[in-house]
Amino acid sequence: MKIATVKKVIRETERIKTFILDLETRAMPGQFGMFWIPGVDEKPMSLSYINGSMGFTVLKMGPFSSKMHEVKEGDRIGVRGPMGRGFKLKGERIILVGGGVGVAPLAPLAEKAADQGMEVTAIIGAMTAKELLFVDRIRNAGAEVWLATDDGTAGIKGFTTDVLRELLAGDTYDQCYTCGPEIMMVKVMDQTREKGIPTQVSLHRYFKCGVGLCGQCAMDDTGFRVCKEGPCFRDKDMEKTKEFGRYWRDATSRRIPLGGKK
Ligand SMILES: Cc1cc2nc3c(=O)[nH]c(=O)nc-3n(C[C@H](O)[C@H](O)[C@H](O)COP(=O)(O)OP(=O)(O)OC[C@H]3O[C@@H](n4cnc5c(N)ncnc54)[C@H](O)[C@@H]3O)c2cc1C
Repeated sequence: MKIATVKKVIRETERIKTFILDLETRAMPGQFGMFWIPGVDEKPMSLSYINGSMGFTVLKMGPFSSKMHEVKEGDRIGVRGPMGRGFKLKGERIILVGGGVGVAPLAPLAEKAADQGMEVTAIIGAMTAKELLFVDRIRNAGAEVWLATDDGTAGIKGFTTDVLRELLAGDTYDQCYTCGPEIMMVKVMDQTREKGIPTQVSLHRYFKCGVGLCGQCAMDDTGFRVCKEGPCFRDKDMEKTKEFGRYWRDATSRRIPLGGKK
């Protein structure tokens, strides 16, 4: 565990902030860190800045993320990482599909892919225009960006998967990368499978140790530990994993249905 000082706090949206640390890192897009606020909790967060100063981006939800939103420049937090398996960059034309704070690991992926000369298309979704994350950042990386909002305040009124359907009707890609609500990722995979486009997903599960020892995030029935074999997985691996799109487990290992696949 390292102790890092928060160099910069960026308010991205009303409910999302990015924290840049005084820690130098060189990570793969999709890898995560375990961030510790003494007396509160230690939680995994995808790294949203991976080359140079480490950064992560937090949606205010429950106890940990709300406390994180109170952290100010100059405050110190505990950090373990980078950890886990990130996305593997493949092909020449790629498409990214991100919903809500799930765009956090896709932004550095877009930058790295563009740096390597890949053609990048990104679909970014949120409930409303003000909650869209990293649109300019991904556009500035050179990606073609499409937007979807539930209320139609930016881009199309609908879901990222509605945009994906339209794009896949006339075009194809070598690889798809997705992160966001699991139901969205299931629907992305349904479409890309039909078109034969290999897809990588970044999963969220409740973590305890973050290093593959405790088994808390092991998935039924494959036993993949999201913190160790993931959090980025291939579509083929998720097709074998019974709980993907169906349920997750809370801190007591109780199953919580996701209301996705039957
Ligand atoms: C690999 C990984 C990367 C992550 N990256 C980010 C990130 O970049 N930014 C970010 O804001 N958060 C990220 N998270 C989520 C983060 O770790 C916390 O779970 C989140 O901040 C909520 O914690 P909390 O204590 O604020 O609220 P909690 O009280 O722990 O949770 C708030 C709500 O979320 C629900 N919830 C918690 N975990 C899950 C789950 N796995 N699936 C479905 N619902 C769940 C709870 O039921 C509750 O309703 C990531 C998680 C993982 C595993």
